Amino acid sequence: MDFGISGKVAMVAAASKGIGLATAKLLAAEGCHVSICARNEEVLEAAAAEIGPETRSYVVDVNNPEDLAWWLEQTTADLSAPEILVTNTGGPPAGNFTTLTDEHWQSGFDSTLMNVIRLVRMVAPSMLANGFGRIVHITSLVAKEPSPMLPISSTLRSGLMALTRLQATEFAPHGITVNSVLPGHTLTDRQRHLAEIRGGKDGISAEEALEKQGKEVPVGRLASPEEIAAAIVFLCSIPAAYITGSNLLVDGGLTKGLA
Ligand code: NAD
Repeated sequence: MDFGISGKVAMVAAASKGIGLATAKLLAAEGCHVSICARNEEVLEAAAAEIGPETRSYVVDVNNPEDLAWWLEQTTADLSAPEILVTNTGGPPAGNFTTLTDEHWQSGFDSTLMNVIRLVRMVAPSMLANGFGRIVHITSLVAKEPSPMLPISSTLRSGLMALTRLQATEFAPHGITVNSVLPGHTLTDRQRHLAEIRGGKDGISAEEALEKQGKEVPVGRLASPEEIAAAIVFLCSIPAAYITGSNLLVDGGLTKGLA
């Protein structure tokens, strides 16, 4: 299938590692002009080199509105206005409800929700003027099935499902689709970090915790970042024009609820 997005400018937030990096790579392989951001310059530059020589990279903290505005300004000047936006972040702090402070909640709110709100508000004018846009939010399966270890992510990401629908409805008449992809357990640094916490509680190593977690998934293993990226990039494609407002689980069958 021809995805039809060759030559389009794509911004992928928080893309120096994991799912964001895999998405940026796949968009570049589809011929997009890719702009990525993350906080650590060295890691960011290594990621950009891995994606390809044309990749533009910018040191940005997605919690910071000035950084986000600067990223869009630079991308527009260096490439042109984005036609594709993938919102992503490192994932809010983990911990049981009683262990999380106001500061944890506030920083989770900025990175998980305000990041998405700000970026969409910023790219909307040019997408509306051009009558085309593809927006995909990377969220989590905990949006549909709250996790006791991830109260911030669970709370904010279920709200993000509603926001995805609202944005999709508002932009649908203008050729812009808005969807969320809800990854299941995916083998990235974030998942390794969570496995250390879980393993510590269960008295097993992080590797053993990851293996146990994989066995709990109906597919029998964790996802690779590329498997999540494949769904994201399809939603960015021209043939996906009729899919909007969806909150797509890519979780190997793990989530049991029907909603
Ligand atoms: P990861 O830790 O592998 O990568 C996170 C990326 O975000 C890195 O490039 C990091 O540099 C960047 N980043 C972090 N904070 C940033 C900030 N403030 N500003 C700019 N860049 C920042 O994580 P991942 O596993 O790829 O997760 C990506 C998203 O997917 C997260 O929001 C996570 O909650 C969600 N998710 C992951 C899984 C999983 O199993 N890995 C499951 C469900 C949801």
